[in-house]
Amino acid sequence: MNPFRKLQFLTLCAFPLMAGCGASSTPSAGQLPLATDADSVAPGVCTLTRDGYTLAWVQDNAQPRLMERSLFPAASDSVMQDLGLTDGVPSTVSTFVLLGDGGTALFDTGLGLPDSRLQAGIQALGLSPADVDHIFLTHFHGDHIGGLAPAGKAAFPRAQLHVPQREYDAWQAMPPEQRAQVEQALAAYEGRISFFQPADTLPLGVQPVEAAGHTPGHTAYRVGPFLIAGDFMHGAALQYAHPDISATYDMDAAAAARARRALLSLARGQGLVLAGMHLPAPAMFSFPASGR
Ligand SMILES: [Zn+2]
Repeated sequence: MNPFRKLQFLTLCAFPLMAGCGASSTPSAGQLPLATDADSVAPGVCTLTRDGYTLAWVQDNAQPRLMERSLFPAASDSVMQDLGLTDGVPSTVSTFVLLGDGGTALFDTGLGLPDSRLQAGIQALGLSPADVDHIFLTHFHGDHIGGLAPAGKAAFPRAQLHVPQREYDAWQAMPPEQRAQVEQALAAYEGRISFFQPADTLPLGVQPVEAAGHTPGHTAYRVGPFLIAGDFMHGAALQYAHPDISATYDMDAAAAARARRALLSLARGQGLVLAGMHLPAPAMFSFPASGR
């Protein structure tokens, strides 16, 4: 069965009583332009359809995630207090699945922990790991590549892996112990890895968008009305109000802030849905389409 039609069946029949995807316990969530009209498929799994494209959010983390206050040293205590964030900033570890007749694509793969929910989320969408045709990586941190090969072999047996060349080159220059997980994950996909340049157009019409700063080759992806932006934010309730504040996770804080502003500006200007791997549920900002 066409997986997308199967998904519609599941949405209509198997989960008729589930609430929408907009509920969030995030302090200041009311100020975030979250896509509250996303459709709930299962806990931690929502879909959003725009302009004929459907993107699913799949939450990977099983336990609630709080980004510690110490990750944002540039934020003053009064700013954190005003936003109700003194205990930290609510977050997720998220992945996204592009669903369509042309093929199925996964964006990042989460942590790959024993309690990770990526595989269950894919199943809830009516898919099996073998249905994933393409995997696009935003960068090489462990909470994005961990689900590629958590048991040492490829978790997605057919998928072509798409990797920003710049990210790969940067990690090649790092000490071997720092890149061990990257080497292991890529080895599991040997023979089906494509390295791309920023100007390349990728399968399914996916377009890379340079977003360096968090890591040297950190890359966002544009497809239709969706902009899947990796780690452009770690603490949305803080950084949406104060986009110049970077997290200590950002390797180049100033470049990360520039990338954050550029991605927000692109999404606002063109009325896109901005998806982020650490945004609170449902991990998508929705801007009015009037700019398109
Ligand atoms: Zn991350």
